[in-house]
Amino acid sequence: MEYVEHIVDLVGNTPLVKLNALAPADGPLVLAKVEYFNPGGSVKDRIALRMIEAAEASGELRPGGTIIEPTSGNTGVGLAMVAQRKGYKCVFVCPDKVSEDKRNVLKAYGAEVVVCPTAVAPEHPDSYYNVSDRLVADIDGAWKPNQYSNVNNPESHFHSTGPELWRQTEGKITHFVAGIGTGGTISGTGKYLKQVSDGRVRVVGGDPEGSVYSGGTGRPYLVEGVGEDFWPDAYDRDICDEIVAITDADSFITTRRLAREEGLLVGGSCGMAVAAALEVAKRADKDAVIVVLLPDGGRGYLSKVFNDPWMASYGFLPPEDASATVGDVL
Ligand code: PMP
Repeated sequence: MEYVEHIVDLVGNTPLVKLNALAPADGPLVLAKVEYFNPGGSVKDRIALRMIEAAEASGELRPGGTIIEPTSGNTGVGLAMVAQRKGYKCVFVCPDKVSEDKRNVLKAYGAEVVVCPTAVAPEHPDSYYNVSDRLVADIDGAWKPNQYSNVNNPESHFHSTGPELWRQTEGKITHFVAGIGTGGTISGTGKYLKQVSDGRVRVVGGDPEGSVYSGGTGRPYLVEGVGEDFWPDAYDRDICDEIVAITDADSFITTRRLAREEGLLVGGSCGMAVAAALEVAKRADKDAVIVVLLPDGGRGYLSKVFNDPWMASYGFLPPEDASATVGDVL
């Protein structure tokens, strides 16, 4: 019989899929690392597993404990899935810009969800960072993974995503492109790929215009899960060779093209990363092998990125599409 002991055993080993329509004709090979194949539906399953197992080993997380984390959804799903396996409770703190669909997914896994305002500074008492700190102080047996500073976030990618890409491309990868949220994905994967290739692999970050990584002030943008208004410890500033700033409009239009032209229904940060990868592809040699990481699937964004009136209300639809739908909004 062919089966695994638990759904958690399926984390990692996600496939690489060639981009056909979006990649430039006669240009380099552009491959997408499709992380929605993880059992919780995103790249964050990888860090959830490693952070929890490390906390068990160090004694920070004890049997019957409660996991408390500020998360935009995907980390919560990964943590909730692993917690289910191991008998922990979960409380997640989300900014209010996170879609209701995503919050309901966390509740479906049995987690409790606390919602905080997006439009306050990180040091504000109502910021989702501070609310989660208070919960940790108040709840017995609480443990906060803190994906923003936990070394096991980048480490999980150093030990899984990086080696997978090296093996899958038979060492032919020349560029790695990923969005930057906590910075764990790009720092861990990038560090491994640079080490194993003696510095040959070029690491490129995609960042929403306005975020600190690309020189912004942290002003709001709409794409979820990427960009920051502070510098997390999980982000290693020595890894990226280049950061490409991408507008919300470009991120979302590219996300919609991935669904319609590649059959990849993915989230807005995937469109952002692919927009950055296409910039890289324009300048790269024909024999380059560019890998872009797609963090999650698109079903959590149906009422936003894939909703014409929502797109038109921000002026993101191309004029020919917007004229048909803007009236619905007004
Ligand atoms: N995209 C989405 C949808 C995410 O949830 C995250 C994680 N915040 C990222 C991209 C960025 O990944 P990382 O935190 O590893 O930089």
